[in-house]
Amino acid sequence: RALVAADADGDERVVEAALRPRTLDEVVGQERVREQLSLLLEAARRRERVPDHVLLSGPPGLGKTTLAMIIAAEMSSPLRLTSGPAITHAGDLAAILSGLNEGDVLFVDEIHRMSRPAEEMLYMAMEDFRVDVVIGKGPGATAIPLEIPPFTMVGATTRAGLLPSPLRDRFGFTAHLEFYEPAELERIVRRSARLLEVELGADGAGEISGRSRGTPRIANRLLRRVRDYAQVRADGVVTRALARSALDLFEVDESGLDRLDRAVLDVLCRRFGGGPVGVSTLAVAVGEERETVEEVAEPFLVRLGLLARTPRGRVATRAAWHHLGLTAPETVDA
Ligand code: ADP
Repeated sequence: RALVAADADGDERVVEAALRPRTLDEVVGQERVREQLSLLLEAARRRERVPDHVLLSGPPGLGKTTLAMIIAAEMSSPLRLTSGPAITHAGDLAAILSGLNEGDVLFVDEIHRMSRPAEEMLYMAMEDFRVDVVIGKGPGATAIPLEIPPFTMVGATTRAGLLPSPLRDRFGFTAHLEFYEPAELERIVRRSARLLEVELGADGAGEISGRSRGTPRIANRLLRRVRDYAQVRADGVVTRALARSALDLFEVDESGLDRLDRAVLDVLCRRFGGGPVGVSTLAVAVGEERETVEEVAEPFLVRLGLLARTPRGRVATRAAWHHLGLTAPETVDA
């Protein structure tokens, strides 16, 4: 049984990797970012230099890792992957940096969660391609300078504002990824369906993309769940009606709100009378970490016009009350 579960999970990850665009041309949407990146990389190639450091910001699942892999691929350079939480000591970072070869692309996911001493070491590494490794403690401590071959740093974060400005300033190019439009998500679903050999019937792709929360990763995941449903409960063809039944089963609503999104709205309206309420209080009430509520749920709710951020706290809009099937109090004006 454990073996089956592990296999199933491995399969999901293999599928996700198989669906990743491998070149800038295969990336759907994000036209401006694609054009800017393509220019940056082409210029670096012509000068035979490593490209400038790149910062990618935006909610999870919008393509940050994919773009980092593409940057490495387009430069024909190896990609090294790590993440902020994995770097707890400056020494961890020194070890990674000292193992780099010229031209390597170093991808640091969740770069805002790196420890402060590591962050300070990174400033110098990014700017001067050198770090000081401190050996020992107290008065006997010595700093050993270490040269690092020129490399390209690609940092990913949910919000650029989470980075201290000295770190942010060391990136020569910053791209902010936005949620995708339904038409773009539909193209992603069609592309993935082709790769997975899923047969799409009348408007099946439209139904899936409309419920994908503006997020390619979710679009691909929903497609896989709908594919399961089509295979088990029908003849394999994904029609609109079939997609709708499948997604209802998985509790994804018509606007794409997931369980956490709905919990936030629900608590905001039913428990706090629509707000204003502080984000920490909201997070405790839904039993999630503040960061998850703020970086994952909120941006999408704001985008849909269901939630507003005000100086006094989070407020449910009229549309939010409506979405929950409740009547907004007279005082709600938005
Ligand atoms: P992030 O690093 O921002 O969390 P990923 O790069 O891991 O997101 O993307 C998640 C999945 O979504 C990938 O497996 C990829 O298949 C798909 N994806 C993301 N962006 C795009 C895009 N622009 N076009 C097509 N597929 C995409």
